[in-house]
Amino acid sequence: MKYLFGPVNSRRLGLSQGVDLLPSGICNFNCIYCEVNRPKKLTLERQEYFPSKEIIAEIDTIFSDKTSAEAIDVFTITASGEPTLHTGIGTIIRSIKKKTEKAVTVLTNGGLLHLKEVRQDLAEADIVVPSLDTALSKSFQKINRPASGTDLEKIIRGIAEFRQEFIGKLWLEILFVQGVNDHPEDICELKKAIARIQPDKIQLNTVARPPFEAFARPISQAKLDVIAEKIGGPVEIIASFIKKDGETQQNIGQSEIIELLKRRPATEADICESLRTTAAETQKLVAQLAKEQKIVTTKHASKNYWTINTKE
Ligand code: SF4
Repeated sequence: MKYLFGPVNSRRLGLSQGVDLLPSGICNFNCIYCEVNRPKKLTLERQEYFPSKEIIAEIDTIFSDKTSAEAIDVFTITASGEPTLHTGIGTIIRSIKKKTEKAVTVLTNGGLLHLKEVRQDLAEADIVVPSLDTALSKSFQKINRPASGTDLEKIIRGIAEFRQEFIGKLWLEILFVQGVNDHPEDICELKKAIARIQPDKIQLNTVARPPFEAFARPISQAKLDVIAEKIGGPVEIIASFIKKDGETQQNIGQSEIIELLKRRPATEADICESLRTTAAETQKLVAQLAKEQKIVTTKHASKNYWTINTKE
């Protein structure tokens, strides 16, 4: 599969069938905490980066297998970059919605929601999760390192405008990096931006997996708790996976693990959770892949993460 990955157990969404719309690393931001372990090609240009028809044809293979289609909780449109840069995103969402009642979620950095055509493209999604890590320009430049010509005020206005027009759920994600966007001034400005946007949920996160930039460090659970209290409202801390009992899939191979690790680093526990496999099966496959030097470990926040061996 070129455009589909998973299904994986997502922390927020349940069993999620991922749809990846862009070649890895094409983005309008270059976040210091990004899990895509390669330099970004920064752009603001929307294009049909992969043929929409090919993406839709691959999604349709899921609907041809009724059991698999029914097991999925949600289709998640994402990318190893920014999915709203793909001009076919609206067509792809509408195509899924015509064939299923399952939810469609879009994960976006929110940077293009000031464009009317992007807001229209996302109109038929069920849940849109834009990021807004800071409402202060100086912190925005440090944490998100956007493409030149990006204006933070325009982004906040775009998300607020989308909120007004969109009938689905809007969950705002804020990711905190130690010493970068966790100052009292950041929280104060974020509160003002949240009041303008009025999201259904505010989801607080921190650097949970090895980031592209090693200097991007997580903040503590205690600090997240304090920030959550200061922000108030429908706030939640994203902390653990949603578990579904009895869902263990034994028949995975090396390729499923490689596909997962291409998108993000993962601990063995993450692999078990995401691919619904057993610890023993995961350990066996991970050991084979490590022996063949296809994957390597890296330590982050006292945990061992597996990533693709880019030097192979
Ligand atoms: S975290 Fe998302 S928005 Fe930021 S650079 Fe990576 S892909 Fe782009």
